[in-house]
Amino acid sequence: MSSPTKGEKVFRGTAVSAGVCRGKILVLHRARHIITQREIAETEIPDEVKRFEQVLVQTRKQINEIQRRVVQNMSGSEGDIFDAHLLMLEDRVVIDEVIRTIRDKKTTADFAFHTVTDRYIAAMSKEKDEFFRERVDVLRDLAGRVLDNLFEVKDAFDLKHLTEPCILVSHDLSPSTTAQLDKKFVLGFATDIGGKSSHTAIMARSLDIPAVVGLQTISDELENGDYVLLDGYNGTVVINPTDKTLFEYGQLEKNKASLDLKLAEILQQPAITLDGKTIQLSANIEDQHDVEAVLAHGAEGVGLFRTEFLFLNHEKPPGEEDQYQVYRQVAAALKPHSVIIRTLDLGGDKFVSNLQLAQEMNPFLGWRAIRFCLAQPELFRAQLRAILRASAEGNIKMMYPMISGLDELNQANALVEKCKVELRAEKIPFDENLEIGVMIEIPSAALIADALAKRAKFFSIGSNDLIQYTLAADRTNEKVSHLYEPTHPAIIRFIKMTVDAAHAHGIWTGVCGEIGGDAVLVPLLIGLGVDELSAAPPVIPEVKYMIRRVKMSEAQALAEFALQCESPTEIYARCVEFARQTAPSLFESKA
Ligand code: PEP
Ligand code: MG
Repeated sequence: MSSPTKGEKVFRGTAVSAGVCRGKILVLHRARHIITQREIAETEIPDEVKRFEQVLVQTRKQINEIQRRVVQNMSGSEGDIFDAHLLMLEDRVVIDEVIRTIRDKKTTADFAFHTVTDRYIAAMSKEKDEFFRERVDVLRDLAGRVLDNLFEVKDAFDLKHLTEPCILVSHDLSPSTTAQLDKKFVLGFATDIGGKSSHTAIMARSLDIPAVVGLQTISDELENGDYVLLDGYNGTVVINPTDKTLFEYGQLEKNKASLDLKLAEILQQPAITLDGKTIQLSANIEDQHDVEAVLAHGAEGVGLFRTEFLFLNHEKPPGEEDQYQVYRQVAAALKPHSVIIRTLDLGGDKFVSNLQLAQEMNPFLGWRAIRFCLAQPELFRAQLRAILRASAEGNIKMMYPMISGLDELNQANALVEKCKVELRAEKIPFDENLEIGVMIEIPSAALIADALAKRAKFFSIGSNDLIQYTLAADRTNEKVSHLYEPTHPAIIRFIKMTVDAAHAHGIWTGVCGEIGGDAVLVPLLIGLGVDELSAAPPVIPEVKYMIRRVKMSEAQALAEFALQCESPTEIYARCVEFARQTAPSLFESKA
């Protein structure tokens, strides 16, 4: 156990939500119920069943209330997480099994419920599929809540009644608890377990609360009232920070506050270089609920709408009408800005349990994206018709992922033409001049960019994949991450070839992979001639800030250096130096 008299100690974990905070901690220990099998009399059974059913109704009300607050305070997509809770809460198979157990075993509702849900959790935990793993978290969260209600625990953590600011520390934090956090009182949180893409981490980022997860034993080692400093940039929690540490972090916090002011000033300004070159700055989105974030962060439209996310976490794939409603809503909300809808990019690391994609030896080299769509014309047709129909209501463009050669482009375009003929016959309006672009994310596409440029209205470089395919380094494998180098000369040459081919044919080129949102690499990309950058909404202000401080002539000189340099690390070092000199404020708040 720690004590204020002990010295500084640093816990290291995974940073999941940026920012630094410091204060006293509140350790949350989830109520641990002692559940024993207790026999009840035959006459008590109906009351016990009734008690269980009443608790289900009470739990549903609580979840509805949490969902309502989440939708109000964050975005609708965060609220969607609780749809899974509600669905599970209504699962008749589980409910009937619990009631049967109460009757057959003549036992209490808490014992029956605990026995049944434990069995489901154990079975689902063995599944490798992401879908089941996510469901296990939901079921655990839900089971804890139902048991709290059966035991009449008022509110496990009673976070609604915090009276002074604190940093929460716990073994884990469920999405439903995270959703209740009040930014006024919760400065940050730290947990023993968790990962970057968990729903809890996603929520922390949406709430803009600094958070570190995966700290292993922190909840056992710290006590209520301990004083800590939490660094959500670097993934550390410092207990009993020394004056020196506090002073250093105090400086960083001041720098961050002054950077935030600078970023706010330019939020609605254009992304234009010091010498007058305008860069189209767009956002990457995953569903209709992200539209608010696009506008709030000062992006000018959407450069990549990853539509496959509409297919994840749903019981059934969305049909033409469902998709049309989503695309239409996004286009209308962002009008007159353009929205580039990327056709389905399923496969690779994006599995959808409801489409029965077979396991493959090399999923990134397998049945993915346009390959999958061309082999499933009915599924593809529904999406193409939905996009075309929505194009009547806003400024929509469309692009195909994973194009490796002309054949795929021609086949996809032929399908689009067929859909247009159908829609005309059905007298359904659409934009006759809908622009269609090609993603450049396979080396073969970069090498034949001149041929593709004759047949496309724009290019968007998918650097996440272009890097993995060019350098043969799996983008999801930590063991080869040292080979995954955005500044490898091969990548820089591919970007240059793509831009040159596009410009020679009078079309533009964007970058929608992660490097487009990396302020360090932005000067290099625009120096190479990239016309558009598309990135996650939260990083848009920093990218814009960098663009507005760059001179094209200097960015071009940086690109020329990179094109003749043979070393990825030297190129990267030059980019860092350039970025730090050009926009020092962007780097002063990160340790
Ligand atoms: C890319 O590959 O860079 C890209 C934007 O697409 P995704 O990350 O969805 O594969
Ligand atoms: Mg890609």
